[in-house]
Amino acid sequence: MSNTKGTVIVLSGFSGAGKGTIMKHLLNTYPGQYALSVSATTRERREGEEEGREYFFRTVEEFENMIREHELLEYASFNHNYYGTPKAYVEKLVNEGKDVILEIEVQGALQIKKIFPQSLLLFVTPPKANILKRRLEGRGTEDSEVVNQRLAIASRESLLMEQYDYIIVNDVLEDAVKSVHNIIQSEKKRALRNSEFIHRIQDELQAFSKGEN
Ligand code: ADP
Ligand code: 5GP
Repeated sequence: MSNTKGTVIVLSGFSGAGKGTIMKHLLNTYPGQYALSVSATTRERREGEEEGREYFFRTVEEFENMIREHELLEYASFNHNYYGTPKAYVEKLVNEGKDVILEIEVQGALQIKKIFPQSLLLFVTPPKANILKRRLEGRGTEDSEVVNQRLAIASRESLLMEQYDYIIVNDVLEDAVKSVHNIIQSEKKRALRNSEFIHRIQDELQAFSKGEN
């Protein structure tokens, strides 16, 4: 899988750090440049969320069936719900040369790194912990008990931040969006990710030097 055409990009971060907001702006600011993987989950649909847009909402039985049928690239349990990445869609996009973004939590991110060693792992964080609490409360989608659970999870997740390739501090939204875009575009220029191009130009130059052109 290391010779994939498109790049697999993982965007993780504490709940409430701004991953969804960054993704929305990234897709709007750079239309057609990135494809977003849509996950399956057993959690309840929030107001405003649509089946197949934010998630594929599934029952536990349906989700466990997807696991048994090997339909998921990775999956994890987060706050008593299953979340997983449907395999077929991501593989199709990557083979078409698209840069695919997976907005997933840390356990899943580390599974993806094993499957796609050249994947790029980005971690979104607010500048300070108290801002995370404020954003979670401000979003108003979870009650205070769930907010506290998510803050406790954030504390555990923070221990894995060093396994990521880049840390995105989401202070001013526009700057964070630009950072994500710039990092991805720079990473795509790495020699290691361009072996096909390098070999082609080497072959062309060799042909020149042998007087074949
Ligand atoms: P996540 O997807 O990481 O759980 P969201 O994208 O839902 O987080 O963001 C959580 C809340 O924080 C939302 O209400 C969002 O509007 C707000 N938010 C996101 N980024 C910023 C930012 N840079 N400055 C201020 N508020 C933000
Ligand atoms: P939320 O309930 O706020 O939408 O998501 C909770 C957490 O699950 C977030 O950290 C989000 O990134 C993560 N998540 C969403 N989809 C997936 C997935 O397919 N796999 C994994 N491992 N985590 C996911």
